[in-house]
Amino acid sequence: MRELCRTPGCNDTPAHDVIVHCRHHLAERPVSELVSMASDWGYYHCEGISDPTLLMGSPDADLLVKAAVVHGAFEQVTTALLNACFDDPHTLEERHLWDESAAIAIRYAMDRERVRLQQIATTEARRIKKATGSCTACGQALPPWINLHLPPQFCSKKCTPPSPDKDRAWSPWSEHIAPA
Ligand SMILES: [Zn+2]
Ligand SMILES: [Zn+2]
Repeated sequence: MRELCRTPGCNDTPAHDVIVHCRHHLAERPVSELVSMASDWGYYHCEGISDPTLLMGSPDADLLVKAAVVHGAFEQVTTALLNACFDDPHTLEERHLWDESAAIAIRYAMDRERVRLQQIATTEARRIKKATGSCTACGQALPPWINLHLPPQFCSKKCTPPSPDKDRAWSPWSEHIAPA
């Protein structure tokens, strides 16, 4: 039997064995924790699969990426996930020296999955902007453009609070971002 969500008082089931919070509480976790969950999930999910190019479109990956969007951490979480699932892009060619077409196929699959996740992230950022309406810090209308390096509930870098302690959840924001 699966454990319950690690958020105290929550009786929901976690999203996955290595994603230890439920989908509602995942976005409250600090970036460092999301990155390590993404990495663990990638290794876990891809273990024993001989053709990594088949590993696409998992809803678990979508959940992790949506949680990352809340922190403006799409890049960190997606990179951790893809590197764990596929290969380190910096050493890819080196490791497949004797099979150039395998390296090309893996790189292509990584790029395709990154684009797919980016679309999910953009849709999620747009949804959060719409649900929040105005900047959580200064109250001004949120700009319509999507910048995945910034939390979508703030209007600018100036309004984004510094990253919270590693051990603390990012709870003040969660009321706006609970998944539908
Ligand atoms: Zn929960
Ligand atoms: Zn603002």
